[in-house]
Amino acid sequence: PIMEQIEAAGYEAYFVGGSVRDVLLNKPIHDIDIATSAFPEEVKTLFPHTVDIGIEHGTVLVLSEGNEYEITTFRTESDYQDYRRPDEVVFVRSLEEDLKRRDFTINALAMNTKGDIIDLFDGEADLKAGIIRAVGLAHERFNEDALRMMRAVRFASQLDFSIEEQTFEAIKELSPLLQHISVERIHIEWIKLLLGKNRNKGIEAFVLTELYQYCPGLNEQAGMLKSLIELAPYEIESEEDSWVILCHKLSLKGQELTSFLKKWKLSNKIIDNCKKVVPSVSFRLEHEWDTAHLYPLNEEQVLMTERVLKILNVSYDVSLAKKKYNELPIHGLKDLAVTGSDLIAHLNQQPGPWLGRLLKTLEQAV
Ligand code: ATP
Repeated sequence: PIMEQIEAAGYEAYFVGGSVRDVLLNKPIHDIDIATSAFPEEVKTLFPHTVDIGIEHGTVLVLSEGNEYEITTFRTESDYQDYRRPDEVVFVRSLEEDLKRRDFTINALAMNTKGDIIDLFDGEADLKAGIIRAVGLAHERFNEDALRMMRAVRFASQLDFSIEEQTFEAIKELSPLLQHISVERIHIEWIKLLLGKNRNKGIEAFVLTELYQYCPGLNEQAGMLKSLIELAPYEIESEEDSWVILCHKLSLKGQELTSFLKKWKLSNKIIDNCKKVVPSVSFRLEHEWDTAHLYPLNEEQVLMTERVLKILNVSYDVSLAKKKYNELPIHGLKDLAVTGSDLIAHLNQQPGPWLGRLLKTLEQAV
């Protein structure tokens, strides 16, 4: 109904990007992106309830009957600097211009309200053949935005697709440009690659194109990366599990482990979990069942250890680990533990970050 309303006002509107690709692949879709020839201010006049979520990039959120729709004006990105996507965008009225700026043919499809596919770059044929091919000249496209190279390898993993030869060669040649991309953006693609259904395909391309040489802590790590291909054929269940696996494979401990994870700008929670779970995984690999490794862990970390063992192709037992964990004498002592309010009263202090730290120290002491 939203698209029909836009059309009734004399503008064009299409489904675009990943949602069209995923519909044609019969995969579940998460975000529906709608592109339109109407400029953002024009979109806003058409609907009573809108939110500016990225109006400088042309995106307006329309709220209608309890649903949210992201509507983005057709745009072209003219000037690229620093091998990154430009912040300045130019709104246009032409769908073709909008599709031309997209990264791969499979992501450059549009669908109108009747369900017809607009396919200007033979994206449907590439979808059928399982091919990731840059729109236009691959060299130019990666020179404009080097992140697209990481997107290519992560789509290889997520979709189980192959990277077309010229696109692949361009990545191989231009991989050093990845140095210009922020770690936060590389991180998103790297994790999607590792969590993808066919991570081996993605890892292989990541190694062969040498993109890994320009990722924090992974340069010179071709051997370790190739060893990931021998992991058991299960999907990695969470981002945290993937960092544990990497730290384990890199034999990182203590300060080295922390500095590797800090290079990737990971949260303290992930760093803390890795610090506990990586040694726990090593312990389990070296010892028969023994509860010693369970003491420093919380229940989430116990489960993480077992999930990682499963991926490492080692016998694991989630229910035994959970049972042993729950039988630890530490649980009997939990009733004796002091609470935050006991400490505040006893020490006559205002609550603050010190309280969490002190409680944690006490818990560990117990
Ligand atoms: P998913 O959301 O499943 O990860 P997606 O293809 O929807 O995949 P998004 O990052 O949401 O990925 O991007 C939406 C669309 O925007 C893409 O399908 C593509 O057409 C375009 N796009 C995204 N990033 C780029 C980029 N760096 N260069 C060119 N086009 C891009």
